[in-house]
Amino acid sequence: MLPLPGIDDLGDIEGKRVLVRVDFNTPLVEVAGELTVSDDFRIRSAVVLFNELQSRGAQVVACTHLGRPNGRINTEYSVEPLRRRLNELCPGVTLLENLRFDLGEEANSLEFGQRLCEGFDAFVNEAFGVSHRQHSSIMVPPKLLPSVAGPNMLLEVSTLLGVFNEPQRPLVAIVGGAKVHDKLAITKKLSEKADRVLVGGGMAFTFWRALGRSIGDSLVDDDQVEACRALLESGKIVIPDDALGLRTGSSFGAEHNDEEVIAFDGEIPDGFLGLDIGVQTRHNFAQEIGAAGTILWNGPMGVFEDNRLSCGTRSIAEAIAASTATSIIGGGDSAAAVAAFGMMDSFDFISTGGGASLELMELGDLPGLRAIRECAWN
Ligand code: AMP
Repeated sequence: MLPLPGIDDLGDIEGKRVLVRVDFNTPLVEVAGELTVSDDFRIRSAVVLFNELQSRGAQVVACTHLGRPNGRINTEYSVEPLRRRLNELCPGVTLLENLRFDLGEEANSLEFGQRLCEGFDAFVNEAFGVSHRQHSSIMVPPKLLPSVAGPNMLLEVSTLLGVFNEPQRPLVAIVGGAKVHDKLAITKKLSEKADRVLVGGGMAFTFWRALGRSIGDSLVDDDQVEACRALLESGKIVIPDDALGLRTGSSFGAEHNDEEVIAFDGEIPDGFLGLDIGVQTRHNFAQEIGAAGTILWNGPMGVFEDNRLSCGTRSIAEAIAASTATSIIGGGDSAAAVAAFGMMDSFDFISTGGGASLELMELGDLPGLRAIRECAWN
């Protein structure tokens, strides 16, 4: 991929108004009747950039989306709690209201982008996690203003592409989560690049079905069974030998009852569903991880939000933490899992973007990065 311009390429910004697209989409919790930021990691990560722009004399205005208000103004999704935290961490930076209060944002509207850019002299995209989306605040500013990538964006891109393209071998990729349909393309790409691809989570049961194993009521994507069968032929895919699960209809998730989980040995009978990898699989996966030179991990091994079903995901996190390999965690749920386990410091790099990190590795570029490179001022 061609190099991306950074903030030094903006030249003299003394007295200039700079618009920064950030990704402050972060969970909020109610404290004493007021919505409050529970995890300010994303806001803290942007402070270095804001300070740098301010020290060069720029007036900084940031913009972000928050949740899915679907184009309507909704106080539940107001950025006010983010503003309060930002103001504590970095006074003097203005934060615009939720971009997704306007339908134009997700529709990639030129008109919305024009309104957004009015009065600005330059644009910085520091929102890696949304740069795989062709949304107005990502795509339009580079058409209208001198535009560059922020430092965290540059670090994400160089780290992910560097590790993916020139890994220390063996490269062991671990994929999990629920959506086999979304992750199949990257699993295929990984099976070409990596030496081993460990598949866990809900995804794994479509691979079980491809092998003719019974899966009870576990998650499955019947349209992808053939594709999974073809992937298994690469000889690099390692799927679970066993699983943990519950009787169909049992409640599970963050708030669950105390029903005990059941161990399944390679087949899941009707009336049950698989929700985590089993003990033998944990052992097998840990051995593969122990032999790795580089590890890429995206997606939990089970319903980690439920303590009874978090053992698989935790064991993977622990095996990676114990290994000497370079370890990269894709964002989203795997990052949430390692945060929940208090293990954020045990890995070499945790990407802020789940979908974006997968798309960057799969396709080698992102729409938001292309927009910056094609910016007429660069
Ligand atoms: P994804 O968005 O595809 O990364 O999926 C993440 C979600 O997958 C998490 O919320 C997990 O609870 C869920 N998950 C993981 N394993 C399973 C499983 N075996 N069955 C159902 N959901 C799962």
